[in-house]
Amino acid sequence: MYRMHEFNIGVLNMSVKGKTAVITGSTSGIGLGIARELAKAGANVILNSFTNSRDDHEIAASLAEEFNVSALYISADMSMPSDCRNLIDKAGKCDILVNNAGIQHVASLTDFPTERWDAIIAINLNSAFHTTAAALPLMRNSGWGRVVNIASAHGLTGSPYKSAYVAAKHGIVGLTKVVALETAEEPITANAICPGYVLTPLVEAQIPDTMQKYGMTRDDVIKNVMLTRQPSREFATVEQIGGTVLYLCSSNADQVTGTTISLDGGWTAL
Ligand code: NAD
Repeated sequence: MYRMHEFNIGVLNMSVKGKTAVITGSTSGIGLGIARELAKAGANVILNSFTNSRDDHEIAASLAEEFNVSALYISADMSMPSDCRNLIDKAGKCDILVNNAGIQHVASLTDFPTERWDAIIAINLNSAFHTTAAALPLMRNSGWGRVVNIASAHGLTGSPYKSAYVAAKHGIVGLTKVVALETAEEPITANAICPGYVLTPLVEAQIPDTMQKYGMTRDDVIKNVMLTRQPSREFATVEQIGGTVLYLCSSNADQVTGTTISLDGGWTAL
């Protein structure tokens, strides 16, 4: 008797084994979580950030050792068009492209620094145009490809004080649709994942300060400060997002293209 869970994982594994995945912004948080799930399923992974530190290379080495795949770190600044294209050129192969790198800045429209607006649009949106344009010929050569863009609930809805982020995330949802239409008759798909709040180290680090500032418990901070717009009052996890990428890479998702998948605990149902 097989267990359903194992059977499903087996089906998903088969589809990415030996494929090469490039994940932008993947030395921490969601990007690293996606890289881990892909490596666990047998994909060779290319990690990226712009820092080029010893730690960055060690993260790749430890993934290679843990999952017995090839894992490489390539430094490239996703705010620079030439770096975006060089990342794909240096990778040499790109069956799965996950556009994940992203930054945030919170300020009212009239106070929003032009430099922050430009950086957010460059990293959160423009980089995906450049990497995708460079990766599509490689996918066409190998006869299969998956583009997965990490958008956000903010790709589908707005929030005050996040003008650049909301604009970039809506933009990447639009870009996803165009990539899907331009590849519709090929064995290539393009989709966007729209997480609500995800418990990344960045978010985790904010909890103790808020607990201390308001004299709240950890649970209160999470449920009544951080997750007020997420009806489930639960974070999405990086493993769940990685698992969604695996689903999009599986043959079950061959006809899923040009769409968004929300992991937001009901945020966009409100
Ligand atoms: P994070 O800060 O933990 O990770 C961001 C990654 O991007 C890091 O590896 C960082 O080095 C890299 N990066 C930043 N600037 C870069 C640049 N110029 N060039 C190359 N790499 C760069 O953030 P995260 O929370 O894991 O977010 C990852 C993605 O998920 C982002 O696109 C973010 O908008 C999106 N997202 C996050 C959440 C959340 O709650 N954490 C929710 C929805 C969407």
